[in-house]
Amino acid sequence: MAAALAPYAALESTSRGRRHAEPASAHRGEYQRDRDRIIHSTAFRRLVYKTQVFVNHEGDLYRTRLTHSLEVSQIGRTVAVALGLNEPLTEAICLAHDLGHTPFGHAGQDTLNECMRNYGGFEHNLQSLRVVDVLEAKYADFSGLNLMFETREGILKHCSVRNARELGDVGERFLERKQPGLEAQIANIADAIAYNNHDVDDGLRSGLLNLEQLRQQPLFATRFDEVHARYPDLEDRRLIYEIIRRMIGAVVTDLIEETRRRLEDAAPGSIEDVRNAGKPLVSMSEAMYEQHQSLKRFLYAHLYSHEQKLEMTRKVQAMVRDLFDAYMRDANLMPPEFALASAGAPDAARARVVADFIAGMTDRYAISAHEALTG
Ligand code: MG
Repeated sequence: MAAALAPYAALESTSRGRRHAEPASAHRGEYQRDRDRIIHSTAFRRLVYKTQVFVNHEGDLYRTRLTHSLEVSQIGRTVAVALGLNEPLTEAICLAHDLGHTPFGHAGQDTLNECMRNYGGFEHNLQSLRVVDVLEAKYADFSGLNLMFETREGILKHCSVRNARELGDVGERFLERKQPGLEAQIANIADAIAYNNHDVDDGLRSGLLNLEQLRQQPLFATRFDEVHARYPDLEDRRLIYEIIRRMIGAVVTDLIEETRRRLEDAAPGSIEDVRNAGKPLVSMSEAMYEQHQSLKRFLYAHLYSHEQKLEMTRKVQAMVRDLFDAYMRDANLMPPEFALASAGAPDAARARVVADFIAGMTDRYAISAHEALTG
């Protein structure tokens, strides 16, 4: 299998490996094992009850963190295979990228970050890494999932300089201003492509967005005109699906073609050359990037900041804050393993245990925990 990969792909032969050495598997490559460990993790199963944009109880058809992660992975794998890159690694990074996400989407993450301001803050990328490095308790010989360096490097998309210093190996690139491997770069962009497009679908479904507004967006308008010209009588649900699948297709095709051009220009001979390239080599063309960003800004202004969403945001922010304060006051309100971990610890360490507990909650767990506290 390795023979079919491009020389600049992540290869097992040049990997920086696992933190704890393990014997090879008889049937699977190392990145396949990583992907499988992620799928079997507790944090992965929780994603089904975590908010993407709409809180889980707002409707059964909206994306959750789980279906979002699957869509990211589908897009990432397509791009990886087209470019001769490592598909199982790309899939592993995509499936794991949101493992550390709090309940209630960005509102939950921002609030937990505020609560943690005096205790080192909370970043969901860093928390995803913490889940696979420390928090998953599955193996007798080590904590975490003991993933390959390249998988961990991809999961840690962003990181503050202060945290990078403390992280060691995977933090180095943020201090040395290096790039991650191409599979990590793909996962990063696949995430943005997935949410930009599925949020249009969920936004329309919710009624918070309408077709007229979206027709002001070039990425949407081009496909709208195309589909409408060919199928003038198509009902809205099919029309929307035809437009969105064409939007994803156009962005993904552009991404593959532009990245191919950049790879030809830079001609990296190995993953080390990719890391030292000075800028990401996986990229959309400038023209497509502008349309993609324009749609992203539109979604911020009209969907994520919609008054109806903000109302929900205020509610869940208060909930997360209440939970944090209560567990800081009385650790015994948490399950015994968390209470035990925080017993007698200094404030920052206690706060980290509380943050781990809250970040691991699903939306509905957080809601019922909050009800239990407030009666
Ligand atoms: Mg994501």
